[in-house]
Amino acid sequence: MFTDIHCHLNDKAFDGIVEQTVREAEKAGTDLIVDSGFDSDSSLRAASHAESFCGVYFSAGWQPQEISRWKDKDMDALAALCRHEKCVAVGEIGLDYHYPDNPEKSFQKEVFIRELELAKECRLPVVIHSRDCAEDMIRLLKENRDKLVCGGVMHCYSHSAEMVKDFLDLGFYLSFGGTATYTGSKKVMKSVIATPVDRILSETDSPYLTPEPHKGSFPNAPKYIPVVVERLAQIKGLPAEALARRIRENAKTLFAKLPR
Ligand SMILES: [Zn+2]
Repeated sequence: MFTDIHCHLNDKAFDGIVEQTVREAEKAGTDLIVDSGFDSDSSLRAASHAESFCGVYFSAGWQPQEISRWKDKDMDALAALCRHEKCVAVGEIGLDYHYPDNPEKSFQKEVFIRELELAKECRLPVVIHSRDCAEDMIRLLKENRDKLVCGGVMHCYSHSAEMVKDFLDLGFYLSFGGTATYTGSKKVMKSVIATPVDRILSETDSPYLTPEPHKGSFPNAPKYIPVVVERLAQIKGLPAEALARRIRENAKTLFAKLPR
C-alpha cells in the first residue's frame, strides 16, 4: 500500500515502458501514483496515463524551468485538464532560482500566481516545486494565501528544517523522496524529523533522484517507493507499514479526488 505522490511517467525516459513501469510498481506494492505534468504536453500525457491505468492519477501544470515556452493559451489547456475526473492537483508549479539561465524571476512569479489562481477556481490543491528560492516562496505563498483554498504539498522538500514550520503554518504537506535516503543528507533528515506524520508524503520524482541502495540506476521508478518509506519510517522511529498507511491517508486528505 505504497504511494508515489509525484513522479513523471510522462518523461521521455519512460517512452515505451510506461505499462511495464506501472506493473512493476504494483508488484512492489506502489498501487497509487500521481503522474505530474511540467508543461502542456506532459500534462496531457499524464492525463492519458491516468485514463489507461486504474491506480494512476495526475496533476497538470507548468514547472518554472519550462515557462520560456509558455503562452497565454496554455492557461486554457491547463484549465480544461483540471476538470478531468482524475486530475487531483495543479502542479508542478513554483519557483526555481537554481541555474542563472532559468527564466526571469519576475516572469516565474507571474506564471506561478496565475496557476495558484487556477487552483482556486478549480478547487484543487497545488503541487509546488521550490528550489533555492525559500524567502521568495514563503513571501509569495503568504501574499496569495487566499488562493490556497485546497492546500498543497511542497514536493521533494529541500529548504531548511527551520522553515518547515512556515510551510506547515500555511497548511502545506511536505513530500520526501530519494534525497532522504542519501548518506550525508543531514538537512533533509532534519526536515523529516520536523514534519509531523500527519503532514508527510512520499514520492520518487522519477525518473530522477533514484534512492539508495539503487542510486546510479536510471530511470528511478515508483517501484522504489518502499525503500523511500522505509528510510522515512526509520527517521521517524515508526514501523514502515504504519507510515505507509498514514501516508495513504494523508494523500487522500490532500487530494480530494482520490477514491475514498
Ligand atoms: Zn517533479
